[in-house]
Amino acid sequence: MNSVVTGAMSNADPMGIRHVKVLDTTLRDGEQSSGASMDATEKISIARELLRLNVDIIEAGFPASSPGDFDSVVQVATLVGDKAVVCALTRAVAGDIEAAAAALAAAERPRIQTGLGLSPTHLRYKLQLSEDNALDHAVKAVKEARRYCADVQFYAEDAGRAERSYLCKVLKAVIAAGATTVNVPDTTGALLPNQYGELISYLLTHVEGIADVTLAAHAHNDLGLATAASLAAVAAGAGQVEATINGIGERAGNAALEEIVVALALHGAEIGVCTQIKLDELTRASRLVAQITGIAVPANKAIVGAGAFAHSSGIHQDGVLKQRSTYEIIDPKTVGAGASSIVLTARSGRAALRHRLEQLGYAVDSAVFKQIHRRFKQIADKKSQVYDEDLEALMAEYDRGLEAIWKLKILQVSCGSPLIATATVVLTGPDGNDVTTCVSGTGPIDATFKAIDALITRSYEQNGEQYGEQNGRLTVDLFRYAVSAITRGSDALGEVSVQLVDEQGRIFSGRGADGDIIVSSAKAYLNALNRVLRAAVA
Ligand code: MN
Repeated sequence: MNSVVTGAMSNADPMGIRHVKVLDTTLRDGEQSSGASMDATEKISIARELLRLNVDIIEAGFPASSPGDFDSVVQVATLVGDKAVVCALTRAVAGDIEAAAAALAAAERPRIQTGLGLSPTHLRYKLQLSEDNALDHAVKAVKEARRYCADVQFYAEDAGRAERSYLCKVLKAVIAAGATTVNVPDTTGALLPNQYGELISYLLTHVEGIADVTLAAHAHNDLGLATAASLAAVAAGAGQVEATINGIGERAGNAALEEIVVALALHGAEIGVCTQIKLDELTRASRLVAQITGIAVPANKAIVGAGAFAHSSGIHQDGVLKQRSTYEIIDPKTVGAGASSIVLTARSGRAALRHRLEQLGYAVDSAVFKQIHRRFKQIADKKSQVYDEDLEALMAEYDRGLEAIWKLKILQVSCGSPLIATATVVLTGPDGNDVTTCVSGTGPIDATFKAIDALITRSYEQNGEQYGEQNGRLTVDLFRYAVSAITRGSDALGEVSVQLVDEQGRIFSGRGADGDIIVSSAKAYLNALNRVLRAAVA
């Protein structure tokens, strides 16, 4: 239990720990979410991310469903090579199986997944098949798939509501017919986690031949229990778990891959299992899938929600700033989510405000801090959240006395197509003298920023002594650049805000406004650099 308390997570595979395979079905079951259809190019970029995540099996699509889907399976199979198993879905129909085999021709590790509904509801209303006929179809389909492919997965659709002895009979028959994985989905998300776990245990002890194949769990989220059900199935002995990124899928969705694998990273040792998923890719995968499908991730979504590592109440903020694990069981960095965030609201305390101001590059002495805190409370009472921009504006009221170290005197830019973007910049330095340079770049902003960097760096190299202790080395990266119009129309005043980050992770913001956004950009950049230099003196 120690690992849970400290938030340390591991996907290591020490002796005696069972490796659970992860089948990602974002491209197949996930695509069945309403409005989530993706074209081949989009599927390829998701497949590329799934490889970085190191999933064992990528279910790429349902080739018989449309020429477009066929083509995406071909492209995913070509991309993946031997890095993962590529699976294609079929109904228990010869034509589907043939199409899947053709689409998987380029796959180095192909898998055909075939099957049919086995619950009384599915048999009677959807398939209109007797139990015996359905059994025949299942066996025939598996044998047909084995003609093309040594790796065949059989799915017993709606297994969660199927009659047990009949389910066992079908599974035994398909295993004998050559299925190498048997998937028992709770297609309708009907079962409680303990019931799904119990079904897995039952099948493992009652189906002849099951020890020689992989038993797969596939849960749906109709009761909000898909992750819990998947974990119960894994704990009961399932050797494969099926899920989608962000839990997208039919109706309330599939089980969310990120939730399952992080829960297993935290608790896997207790139940004796691990996965091979690269956890620090989870945030990137989530964002990519949300962006491509247009299905936004709720802020409070576990692991990948925008607020999953955000702390709002003063008590929580104070705790997290003192020791992250007081209110976090997962270090956001392990899932690729950057740092925990402190959301500033009316409930935030002094510790959180001071921390954020320091991150923004303001060194505030205690006398001024009292006044700033009072102003902050006034703003926070009017707004649900106080953003960096609000703090910048607030600090500007106190910042006026501070002279800019470097000032922009002249900016002249030439750019266009075909033209090499070039910026000529004249700055007035701390000693009152002007310095000039001309630099080219990939665009007007790039050329301008490079010219400013070059001037400041060169001046400190030549006149460092005169400028005192200041360190002119600009070891900062541009972290954020945003333009917004503050008035209407094409003659609007454009405001640019930039954030620079230094080697210690400190953020320095700068703002600039002008009718010309290149000038706004130069002002903003210089404003932020002046803060960097001031912090170096402080
Ligand atoms: Mn499904």
